[in-house]
Amino acid sequence: ENVRCNARLAIFEGVRYALIFGDDDSTNQRVEATRRDFAANVSHELKTPLGAISLMAEAMLESRDDPEAVDHFGRRVLKEATRMGSLVNELIGLSRLQEGRIPDFAQVDVDPLIDDALAAASVSAEVAEISLITDDPIGLHVQGDRTLLLTALSNLLVNAINHSSAGDVVSVSRKVSKVDDVDMVCIAVTDRGIGIAPADQQRVFERFFRVDKARSRATGGTGLGLAIVKHVAASHGGHIGLWSRPGTGSTFSLYIPIDPSDSDTGSANTEEL
Ligand code: ADP
Repeated sequence: ENVRCNARLAIFEGVRYALIFGDDDSTNQRVEATRRDFAANVSHELKTPLGAISLMAEAMLESRDDPEAVDHFGRRVLKEATRMGSLVNELIGLSRLQEGRIPDFAQVDVDPLIDDALAAASVSAEVAEISLITDDPIGLHVQGDRTLLLTALSNLLVNAINHSSAGDVVSVSRKVSKVDDVDMVCIAVTDRGIGIAPADQQRVFERFFRVDKARSRATGGTGLGLAIVKHVAASHGGHIGLWSRPGTGSTFSLYIPIDPSDSDTGSANTEEL
């Protein structure tokens, strides 16, 4: 399984290489294999909810005299259709990102971005009895697409909530971090949930990879959340870091370069503090 996983990662890297240089035969073959793999995954992911929708529509027709059954199957049809809808939306978003199309670059305030992501996750957190906590504002900006950054942070928060237990805490922290001489804002989402085994830590960023498919389905996951986070980070000149230990929890850290006009203010603030 691990060998296959490494081969798939290599193939994925091969795509970027192929886009830049792509004319030798083995590269073309790798690109073709990736495409086939992806198409097979997409078909499978769409077929499952579609099959469920057909079955439940039939059940609804058969039990049209029983309002309770109609209500039950109707709700399930709606749930599966909603899942298909979000899968298709996420696929479209991901393919735009992979094409490098990022329409709305502007200055984004980091603190309100975190506030909005926390607000969006607050209802799911309340339902799951998870406390969301965060640290003090940092007063910095990044250059980016606010909607994409919000999606990335929300995906990390939803995952953290879904892999924690009632009574747990999920925290969001922010700091400045120098990576290869570039000042980055590091926004970290930490949970004390089930954690991720070392062998799966790279794979969770692959499209459609889930450690536990049943759990992912039950929570409405598409298996694309972290692939999207990874591409959002890369398209902003940043990256995503992961620390995790099974049974202890996980920290996903989103690194985005700080706005150049903040660089002076940033260090001035640090000195003042
Ligand atoms: P999904 O839609 O299944 O959440 P993601 O791409 O967001 O898809 O995540 C891929 C897989 O990574 C999940 O199915 C889960 O197995 C694992 N995962 C993601 N976040 C966490 C986390 N905070 N704790 C434990 N496992 C996680």
